[in-house]
Amino acid sequence: MSEPTTANLTRDETAARSAQVTVHGYRVELDVTGAPDAAATGFPSTVTVEVEGDGDTWLDFLGESVEAVRVDGAAVPVEYDGARVALRNLRGRSTVRVEATGRYSRSGEGLHRFVDPVDGATYLYTQYEPADCRRVFACFEQPDMKAPFTFEVTAPEGWEVISNREAAATEQAGPGAVRVRFAPTLPIPTYITAVVAGPYHRVDGEWRGVGAGPGGADLTVPLGVLCRASLAQHLDADAILEVTRQGLDFFHDAFGYPYPWGKYDQVFVPEYNLGAMENPGCVTFTEKYVFRGEATRAQYEARATTILHEMAHMWFGDLVTMRWWDDLWLKESFADYMGTLACAEATEFTEAWVAFAERRKAWAYRQDQLPTTHPVVADIVDLEAAKLNFDGITYAKGAAVLKQLVAYVGREAFFEGSRRYFRAHAYGNTTLTDLLAELSSASGRDLDAWARAWLQTTGVATLTLEQDGPSGEVVAAQSDGRPHRFGAGRYDYDGDAFVRVERADVELTGTPQHAPVPLAAAPLIVLNDDDLTYAKTRLDARSLGTVESGLSRVADPLARGQIWAALWNAVRDGELDPARYLAVVARHAPGETNTALLASALANADDAVNRYVPEADRARRRGEWLDTAWSAVQSGGGLPWARALAGAASVADGRAAGIRALLDGSAPVPEGLRLDPDLRWSLWTALAATGHAGPADLDSELAADDTAGGRTAHLRALAARPDPAVKRDARRRILEDESLTNDQVDALIAGFRAGRRRDLIAEYDDAYFAGLTGVWRGRSIEIARRIVLGLFPAGETTDAVEGWLAAHPDAPGALRRLVIEQGDHLARAIRVRGIGR
Ligand SMILES: [Zn+2]
Repeated sequence: MSEPTTANLTRDETAARSAQVTVHGYRVELDVTGAPDAAATGFPSTVTVEVEGDGDTWLDFLGESVEAVRVDGAAVPVEYDGARVALRNLRGRSTVRVEATGRYSRSGEGLHRFVDPVDGATYLYTQYEPADCRRVFACFEQPDMKAPFTFEVTAPEGWEVISNREAAATEQAGPGAVRVRFAPTLPIPTYITAVVAGPYHRVDGEWRGVGAGPGGADLTVPLGVLCRASLAQHLDADAILEVTRQGLDFFHDAFGYPYPWGKYDQVFVPEYNLGAMENPGCVTFTEKYVFRGEATRAQYEARATTILHEMAHMWFGDLVTMRWWDDLWLKESFADYMGTLACAEATEFTEAWVAFAERRKAWAYRQDQLPTTHPVVADIVDLEAAKLNFDGITYAKGAAVLKQLVAYVGREAFFEGSRRYFRAHAYGNTTLTDLLAELSSASGRDLDAWARAWLQTTGVATLTLEQDGPSGEVVAAQSDGRPHRFGAGRYDYDGDAFVRVERADVELTGTPQHAPVPLAAAPLIVLNDDDLTYAKTRLDARSLGTVESGLSRVADPLARGQIWAALWNAVRDGELDPARYLAVVARHAPGETNTALLASALANADDAVNRYVPEADRARRRGEWLDTAWSAVQSGGGLPWARALAGAASVADGRAAGIRALLDGSAPVPEGLRLDPDLRWSLWTALAATGHAGPADLDSELAADDTAGGRTAHLRALAARPDPAVKRDARRRILEDESLTNDQVDALIAGFRAGRRRDLIAEYDDAYFAGLTGVWRGRSIEIARRIVLGLFPAGETTDAVEGWLAAHPDAPGALRRLVIEQGDHLARAIRVRGIGR
């Protein structure tokens, strides 16, 4: 369904609204007793809001209908355009009541409804950021209108019903239904309110902080971990609770401010659009973190980091909230930094900074080289812009520069400034200036120049090194004129291992942009060793040679991370032949012990064979990569390599018979490998994509795994078959079937694109561009974004992209941004392929 243009709230109009109107509190009554009935599209939603202010304003609501509006008990005419409910002639303080019908969501935005195929149970949860609370009840949808919320949810008897606060009372509400009234929240913005309901499986726990409460009293926080009942057997709640307690210890020490939200529930929910969401007292997570099969240590580490990221938000984001989405980065980079810090220092995952340096920052570097990049402090004029700003700059670059800031002001001053900030602004809204003021006063440093250099500019520098400078010395140089302070490490052999034998501090202060490095020449010199600055680095020729023969002998994983990153950035920039990168992966990835680095190297190798090697070499490289992955699996490489094998086997079929033998049990499963359901589906999808598996195979796999994950994977595998009719049907459903959920859309897109036969889908290239604005107008932004990205044609020229952009100067800015970015990725791939020839 399409939404009226008034759904796209602007910064200016919301600023005017909060200046005009104060909101004192909400009472929200939701009735979801009809949710298990598939024919019920909507649910009754009544909100009573206490407002103060004069004149005309509006409440935001994206629902099925508005039945009645009352002001101080008197009915007023309903003026509802599908996005806004008009309020006329308010005077002073009023009680506004809106009786409406919300719509159950299939896209993960608003109140999402999911039916579990295993047991037919219905599950609900809400997801709002940045502005989807209005899909559930009428509200003032902007972060600077904080208020206490009292939720009252009527639901089928026997369900778990949870919200931000604990339940205050539960009463019978007719046959088979109960009404749960929750304690009022402290003042919070709409986007972090939450309701979760369904027959969720629940595990309870508790955290006790001695002296952590107000006035030094002890503090007890009840903990809950929830997931779908059919996943309960896979939920390792003890491990999750352990990280949770470690985090609460850490943040109470660091922040010196008692956890303010009472209890702390963490719910793993189906068909979730993101990793997790920091609703106070009711954090929601993707259920991909409930591992129903094997998982690598990197996956457990990522889950721990996410748990701690969300927990940091309880203070930074929830207790103190940005005024508007321009400062989204402030809470996200803070949480990203704190999540990693807490993970490295308070949990078993002491190596957490390695993944941060290599994987997280790769996301930032990629985004920062796109034509659409923006300063960390962004100019967010409206909600569509806000929605697209959950990107590599906001999270990863922001966190990287925050890490610099901590090094610059000193860790103690940083935490002291944060503590002052929480005390000064609790339950309020802030901008960057407020945080910088506290950090300046705690550290005694003026931060304006730092903020200008790192927060208000774009782009990423490249640091380079020469071991034989003009007079034979080691020289470093940089490309962006910003002040950089970083380490350089000299590495040499110590027995069989490569270890750092010397470290130098290097300062490049703009002009001149090169400086001597006080290190002797060496087989290997690593720039930005210890990961202190935000920059791509290059290996000098001698170090590159050393790495090609000896990378897996470098002992320190953080140094290996910098080297892997340097290699990959050089490929993307057309300075290192993808074939050389693939050779390094084939030689050294089997010995890579850090599973985060390994997963990146394997994913990058996949990208290299499919995007960056010259067209003429592609089939050969794909075959070689398949053999590399196959051999690694056979010799005990385990899960990471088996995933790489599935990717490689979807574009090359040299091992199809061997893979089938693994799946049907006629060949032994190699040591170190467990064929769990998700891995089996990946391999089946590869066989389907190359024409070596058909519907009968896939149906029988589904019979063995008739779960939500199994059904989605089945959909993907069917759509992967190299058959024009299959592709046509998948595309039609993606574009036309609005009953599909977000996950189903993803599965069909993945199937549609799978395989090496671009000729099967190239005929839709023109239709893609012709249909873009219609998709953007007609679908919710979450689904539209998936379609625009997922169906983008991987052609051999950018002519069609440029043609569309030239012909559509007035298309929505957010849509243009996505197309420009995809066009740039394509242009880069074409450029690199040309160089490799
Ligand atoms: Zn976050």
